Amino acid sequence: MSSVKKHEFKTEIRQILNLIINSLYSNKEIFLRELISNASDAIDKLKFKSQTDADIIEADTEFKIKIKADSFNNTLEITDNGIGMTYEEVMQNIGTIAKSGTIEFLNSMKEANNKEAISAEMIGQFGVGFYSAFIVAEKITLITKAAKNQKGVKWESSGDGSYTIEEVEKEKRGTSITLHLKKIDKDEENFTDEFTIKRIVKKHSDFIRYPILMDVEKDEPVKNPVLDKDGKPIEGQTEKVIKEETLNSMKAIWAKSKQDITEEEYTEFYKHIARDWNAPLAKLHFKLEGATEYDALLYIPSKAAADLFQPDKKHGVHLYSRRVFVMDDCEELMPSYFRFIKGVVDAADLNLNVSREILQQDFLIKNIKRNLVKKIFDLLSSLEEEKFIAFYKEFGNALKEGVHTDWENKDKIADLIRYKTTKSKDKLISLKEYTANMKPDQKDIYYITGDNLSMLINSPHIEKLKDKNYEVLLMTDPIDEWVVQALTKYDGKPLKSAEKGDIDIDNKEDEKEIEDKTDQPKDYDELFQYIKSELSDKIKNVKASVKLKDSISCLSGDAYDMSAYMEKIMQASGQKIPTSKRVLEINVNHSAFKKINNTYQNNKKSEDIKRIIKALYDLALISEGGKIDNPSEFNKTVSKLMNYALQSVETE
Ligand code: ADP
Repeated sequence: MSSVKKHEFKTEIRQILNLIINSLYSNKEIFLRELISNASDAIDKLKFKSQTDADIIEADTEFKIKIKADSFNNTLEITDNGIGMTYEEVMQNIGTIAKSGTIEFLNSMKEANNKEAISAEMIGQFGVGFYSAFIVAEKITLITKAAKNQKGVKWESSGDGSYTIEEVEKEKRGTSITLHLKKIDKDEENFTDEFTIKRIVKKHSDFIRYPILMDVEKDEPVKNPVLDKDGKPIEGQTEKVIKEETLNSMKAIWAKSKQDITEEEYTEFYKHIARDWNAPLAKLHFKLEGATEYDALLYIPSKAAADLFQPDKKHGVHLYSRRVFVMDDCEELMPSYFRFIKGVVDAADLNLNVSREILQQDFLIKNIKRNLVKKIFDLLSSLEEEKFIAFYKEFGNALKEGVHTDWENKDKIADLIRYKTTKSKDKLISLKEYTANMKPDQKDIYYITGDNLSMLINSPHIEKLKDKNYEVLLMTDPIDEWVVQALTKYDGKPLKSAEKGDIDIDNKEDEKEIEDKTDQPKDYDELFQYIKSELSDKIKNVKASVKLKDSISCLSGDAYDMSAYMEKIMQASGQKIPTSKRVLEINVNHSAFKKINNTYQNNKKSEDIKRIIKALYDLALISEGGKIDNPSEFNKTVSKLMNYALQSVETE
């Protein structure tokens, strides 16, 4: 038997150890993930080797990882029956940090030369593995025996610059690591506590494919209970028994092939990760091989979470690397408008301690993201109509955000968005369907925005469009205002607001009529001037409308003016909006207008005309769902007009 040998750590290892201990302090629990992950790798290695060396697994074939917590001695032991290590391997792997990257790591540390910059993130780039155990342990004892070896090896260190190593007797193949835990304060997490361990394993290592076992104490009914006088056992007689429990579910179902997974398993896994009671609406499971290697199992929920539009809404895709948890709610894998997607991405070549900051610049992750987004669009466009509409009703508004934020995929989103129209009744139609239904002489795609459908359908702005049998998209969500700002064309056809002054309805007769009237002085020119001066604080101009058919007036903006709905949204959110005056459009063919003009010509000082002019403006405002300044005055004007109207009926 060889004697105990003491070795000094290399200087750089000392530095690294210090750094690890200090910088990972706020996320101590990851040590357990690292050790479990090493144990799982060791079993993988053994299984892999057994393919060419069958008798390497001569016994102990039930692969497992066992955790033993001893709160009395304040120790935590992690044991595996994996490949184990020889004396030389321990020296190589554990005694020295012989890993590539160490030197670069130290150099980058020196370059940064700044305590802030030397963070967990930087350490994460190089993998700290085994050494992270020194965050919680004041001493580590590792005992290991390599498969097919006679002797075991014991390695021990207090992380203070040296370690000892010696040959020992060990019965079984595998590695056992005992952490002699540091003393903790009352408010610190106790890593010998059963529930703490269970929580950490569940969070970080649930999908490790070997059982992670732990002995837990349970109260069970005693075997020979004391009986009462009637011969029945007296209630409440229990005894403490030790039972071995499996802490992880082992279900890395994303890594299995599709044909080995039942629908129930898919659904159960979804419910587990999404914490949702409902089954998902659709799923996407695929494996990508090649330069970027990863498995992805993604789900679209059937119901939107209540907080979907909260600013702090978390993403739902968890990142794993070879079945070991890396990060939950990984924003770097999904654009924000797909934040409702749930699932797992397991990237093979990813460092376990990778940070969010590093992920943002990571080429591999960017690649994966682009690819995932493409696959989700493929899935969405292949959904049968009924399912798609169910999806759209829940998540359409989130999806629409992408029109504004993801220029690369704007067209794909434009293909998916749906609206009700003046012709579709209650059906949602796509822009593709809209353009297919366009009239031969129709050049533009027309839309109108507002907060309720019936108001939009009856809006004076679209009277002529309806008359021409042109379809108009009815946009009733605040987000649509942003959609139309970014989506100015679809399939080469401009999207035009019916509310804005620039619509070009190819209406020869009307145009002629209006043109005639604009060329020469018109009999209402004077009245228009008068209206303009009366409403000068509210409007910038008065013009004869090409849009109106049945209504007498409406308000329109210039192409770049804010829509009435947008103003309303901004007002509702308490934002100050620049006061933009609009144009009062008058239906000069309306019989009432002709009468107003006659009355005005007869008496240019008429108080009634003044009131009617205000009412023309108020009517335009009301018809677009706006609020009028002085409703009681409007009330008086209308009742007075009713009175006149009924008088003339009586005298008829
Ligand atoms: P990493 O796992 O990133 O390589 P670690 O510091 O965690 O870094 O481990 C260093 C090496 O020690 C591993 O690559 C492995 O060869 C060996 N090792 C660690 N834990 C075990 C174990 N439980 N069984 C066998 N070998 C192990």
